[in-house]
Amino acid sequence: MTRKVMVGDVAIGGDAPVSVQSMTNTDTRDIRSTLKQINELYESGCQIVRIAVPDSEAAEAVKHIKKESPVPIVADIHFDYRLAIKAAENGADKLRINPGNIGNKEQLTKITKVAKERKIPIRIGVNSGSLEKDLINKYGGITAEALFESAENSVEYMMDTGFEDLVLSVKSSDVVLNYQTHMLIKDKLDIPLHIGITEAGTVKTGMVKSAIGIGSLLLRGIGDTIRVSLTGNPIEEVKFAKEILKSLGMLDNSINLISCPTCGRCRIDLVEIAKDVEKMITSLEPEMEKYKPGKIDVAVMGCVVNGPGEAKNADIGIAGGKGKGILISKGEILASVPEEELTSALEKEIRRRYFGDLND
Ligand code: SF4
Repeated sequence: MTRKVMVGDVAIGGDAPVSVQSMTNTDTRDIRSTLKQINELYESGCQIVRIAVPDSEAAEAVKHIKKESPVPIVADIHFDYRLAIKAAENGADKLRINPGNIGNKEQLTKITKVAKERKIPIRIGVNSGSLEKDLINKYGGITAEALFESAENSVEYMMDTGFEDLVLSVKSSDVVLNYQTHMLIKDKLDIPLHIGITEAGTVKTGMVKSAIGIGSLLLRGIGDTIRVSLTGNPIEEVKFAKEILKSLGMLDNSINLISCPTCGRCRIDLVEIAKDVEKMITSLEPEMEKYKPGKIDVAVMGCVVNGPGEAKNADIGIAGGKGKGILISKGEILASVPEEELTSALEKEIRRRYFGDLND
């Protein structure tokens, strides 16, 4: 098990649940737009938000952003150690640096001194794109061994300054290389791990790479916090990160949608119904924290012949007939419902069972 660090009120590592994070793509100096996006990320379920701090004005903006942010803020710093110090002094809940490009040990020690005083952790980010040349030469390219050695050196370098409140990320855009590197890390370092596939691509390709890259590691018990990295709206990153956790049964108070691919037996417009049910599930998400219904499996099946059987493990679901369908729970038929009322009947039953809504 990894050690635990606190980022504001969110724990990373140890026995803490895997947290979801993302990064704003606004100009941090534009405080209003950045806060707007942070709030949208929060509403989508993001627990930690990183912001880029490329200059002194952005480091100054951290003060105002932090004051109004509903989630802990991570300041992302490259090259200039003074920006890291300023961001920490201005209230950042965590710093993200790459020790390789931040300067010498004296400058690094100045950062860790402030981080210690402010009791905030530092994430060391090792990236395949910025791997040290000597390691590339030593291993004959960007390999898992080279990335692991770079990570090990960075951790040692930070620990030498007397700072231990670390989070480590070692990312590659190559899913296989990412996996192999973490296989080397898993038993050798006990630093909490931030995992993700870097530069994963657009929403479509990025989702696939992230699902495999993050999912394969989480299944091995590796990873304490995740970031899905997409060329697109960061809100999509959060939604998709939550889907990954949901698929692995790692997201408390969530509704997992199961729907069949349809076949020649299907006599209802299941594709549209499944879309409606998906929307309905999303609309219930804001109430999850209040009612804490646990993990609910909802099945949407195309036919009554196989539907109830195929959905027998689902907590609640629907199965189509001709112009109508049935409401089912754990394979048991609850009611027969006209096709156009299936989604609303399903919602009503979910609300009745899990949200304490006893109204008809
Ligand atoms: S549930 Fe029915 S419609 Fe859907 S795939 Fe199975 S047999 Fe076909």
